[in-house]
Amino acid sequence: MNCIHIGPGVELRGIRPEMACVDAVVLAAFNEEHPGLACWLTSAVRPGDKKSLHGYGLAKDYDCQVEIEEPAGKRIEKRVQGALGPEKPTRQFYALWHQGRSGRWHLHVELDPGNKGVAPYQEA
Ligand SMILES: [Zn+2]
Repeated sequence: MNCIHIGPGVELRGIRPEMACVDAVVLAAFNEEHPGLACWLTSAVRPGDKKSLHGYGLAKDYDCQVEIEEPAGKRIEKRVQGALGPEKPTRQFYALWHQGRSGRWHLHVELDPGNKGVAPYQEA
């Protein structure tokens, strides 16, 4: 069975319910580029991170078992963005294929709360 694998240490407590649908969309996009390859959720909620939407349960990062070159990554990004909704001014979801601090390319998907405002995730 092909599914999203949850990476070690990935925190899902506090993830916004709206982010649940993203997994299926990302899996389909990765598989269109590399059929049958394992896809990993590498980051979700990052408690205390106030500089990105990860701190608010509104972002997820995905990677694949093989290194994906930038042109293929950009195609994945485009497919995910297309499936999740149009770009500005009405967009809510935002997909970005980018290079992380580790140097590894990955897909970041966030739900932009716009002007509604959000509160960071906190332990109950
Ligand atoms: Zn991210």
